[in-house]
Amino acid sequence: MQKTFSIIKPDAVKRNLIGHINQMIENADLKILASKKIYLTKNQAQIFYEVHKERPFFNSLVEYMTSGAVQVQVLEGEDAVLKYRKIMGATNPDEAEEGTIRKQYAESIEANSVHGSDSEENAKIEISFFFSGSELVE
Ligand code: UDP
Ligand code: MG
Repeated sequence: MQKTFSIIKPDAVKRNLIGHINQMIENADLKILASKKIYLTKNQAQIFYEVHKERPFFNSLVEYMTSGAVQVQVLEGEDAVLKYRKIMGATNPDEAEEGTIRKQYAESIEANSVHGSDSEENAKIEISFFFSGSELVE
């Protein structure tokens, strides 16, 4: 069993898609251990996406991620990190496979509806950024 970290991003929260996306997550045998709706502060968004700070899209990404509420979640399952990346689909929805969350719901390469950790190591860092151990319920 492995844990991963997920964000349902502002574009999807605004369009009332939390339940639809979580249905796809549960259909993939991933269990939602923790889930809460929050507003990211500008500072949190900058820290969260720090690896991209030199990229041309960084400022716009931070603006977008703070433009509305997000749903932050911890998921658990077999190979959760890879499994969730697979059902999310490619970063650019034009390149995402049929049946993936981003193919179905993303509006653009920026407003692409979901985040998922890209490694087990980053999952641990991202989970502890938003959740304390006592919030993770089996
Ligand atoms: N992003 C963007 N323009 C790009 C690439 C990425 O706005 O050309 C945004 C998009 O919201 C993406 C996030 O930055 O999800 C993080 O990029 P990353 O390459 O880590 O993609 P992900 O891991 O989310 O698929
Ligand atoms: Mg990434």
